[in-house]
Amino acid sequence: MLVERIAKRTLSLKSFRVSKVQEGVDGLEILIVPNRRSLPVCSCCGRKRPLRDTLRPRRVKCPTCGIRVERIPWSMGKSRLSLPLISVLQTLARHIYRMLRISWEGVARLYGVSWNTVRAAVKASVEYGLANRQIEGVVYIGIDEIARRKGHRYVTNIYDLTDKRLLATAPGRDEISLYKCFKELGKSLMSKPLVVCCDIWKPYLKIIREDLHPDTVVVFDRFHIVSNLLKAVDEVRREEYHDKKKSNPGLLKRTRYLWLKNPENLKPAEKQRLGALEKMRSISVN
Ligand SMILES: [Zn+2]
Repeated sequence: MLVERIAKRTLSLKSFRVSKVQEGVDGLEILIVPNRRSLPVCSCCGRKRPLRDTLRPRRVKCPTCGIRVERIPWSMGKSRLSLPLISVLQTLARHIYRMLRISWEGVARLYGVSWNTVRAAVKASVEYGLANRQIEGVVYIGIDEIARRKGHRYVTNIYDLTDKRLLATAPGRDEISLYKCFKELGKSLMSKPLVVCCDIWKPYLKIIREDLHPDTVVVFDRFHIVSNLLKAVDEVRREEYHDKKKSNPGLLKRTRYLWLKNPENLKPAEKQRLGALEKMRSISVN
């Protein structure tokens, strides 16, 4: 009777009971039947409704939703996996991989299931997360692109920066990718002022400007600002180098890292040379 009790508890069977446990080919087979006295729950609205027929699973006659299959408390949608199994496999697949670098294949072996079962569990939990994501209070979002397969494929992600969670994802890193992400999140998010942190990436900026609330504030991350500034400094240096090549060929030779290095990292000799060059600029400007 212990097995029955374990099954009843882990699957949180309230209006169902374990009628039989037997040894099958792949393990234990547990036969679960509905309690006759309790009304089935509509899978659509989640309310107790009168029984329509006794097909398996049973169907309810719901005044709001029509004729629907009853809600099966231990499963989700059309997934054949039980909720506890989905929960365990997806947790192992995500966290064990991160902590111990055990692959999905390893998780499958650990639990005596196939790789496809692990994949189905991860997929089911992602679908659940997407269907139940709460975005009402979201104000601070981050947009980022991630390279996959050695940079041959990109995906665009939108994060909730307050709760540190992924909100939406779409393949590619162009305007359509970002638009798809926002569309998936719905109009409520797009129609209120947000604070968006993203790269200086034209396709994203275009969508932010055109499709988000006009009072949305865009914050660029420091890494991109610094790298763009350094690029600009280097461009100017190169132009100047070509300008001065004839009149003063040695002037800007081998100065690239003088301009790009952090001033506090410059050696005394480098500081002196940069100082001299800067003085020349102020003379020519004046
Ligand atoms: Zn219903």
